[in-house]
Amino acid sequence: MSKTPELVVRELHVSVEGKEILKGLNLEISKGQIHALMGPNGSGKSTFANTLMGHPRYEVTQGEILFKGQSVLEMEADERSRSGLFMAFQYPVAIPGVSVANFLRTALNARLSPSETNGSGAMPSKRGINPKEFRAMLKDKMALLKVDESFATRYLNDGFSGGEKKRAEILQMAVLKPEIAIMDETDSGLDIDALRVVSDGVNALAGPELGVLLITHYQRILNYIKPHFVHVMMDGRIVTSGGPELAHQLESRGYDWMRVKEVATP
Ligand code: ADP
Ligand code: MG
Repeated sequence: MSKTPELVVRELHVSVEGKEILKGLNLEISKGQIHALMGPNGSGKSTFANTLMGHPRYEVTQGEILFKGQSVLEMEADERSRSGLFMAFQYPVAIPGVSVANFLRTALNARLSPSETNGSGAMPSKRGINPKEFRAMLKDKMALLKVDESFATRYLNDGFSGGEKKRAEILQMAVLKPEIAIMDETDSGLDIDALRVVSDGVNALAGPELGVLLITHYQRILNYIKPHFVHVMMDGRIVTSGGPELAHQLESRGYDWMRVKEVATP
């Protein structure tokens, strides 16, 4: 009765500029699950996220990444996102004249461009979702996420605060309806506003149709988002996995006791 997880990562080895960063990483994520990936700076968390999304600089030298049973290693980044992998977008430069709504509609049309519908409630056609239908859908999503309607007409990234950038990101996730979302909270400097936006957003969108990989150095965000699984990464591999209690242990004890454990268990 157990079905194959949507995302399966096996023995993944990744090099950046000839240097091996990921050294045999294994992870499985199913829809409906929230996984937290924690680890000290430099352990390879962002390398993993970028590799999942197909960033060309990250070279997979060994291992496999399967999404819905198919290898993604030969897929370009845009193909991966069309197939239902989502990564909180590396924030684009401000483009004067492109509103949040325009940006989201363009992104959705790209996602819908393969022929079939994806359950977003939108009817794709060659020209994409029609504007009226899109506006109605966006309005629903904004209500769900408690985003003020005026946000949609603002120019993307134009003077956005940290919290507003996160709001745009979460809104994009709501509109695109990915099956697996990867959130790399790189900047440990998320202020409390941004942190709330991310955690309220993830909590509103989480459910049986979404799997989440939340990458974080700090335990703090896990006070707001309850993960089902917590993994600790050290030197390019996952050294321990457990439930939410693992995050609390890390908070009180730091990562150093893990290092000791890592040495003790070859
Ligand atoms: P984390 O996100 O866990 O802090 P990273 O994946 O950012 O870790 O970094 C892991 C290691 O890979 C570090 O030693 C870092 O210097 C190296 N690294 C990551 N990305 C690059 C890159 N684009 N060029 C060179 N080295 C990189
Ligand atoms: Mg990082």
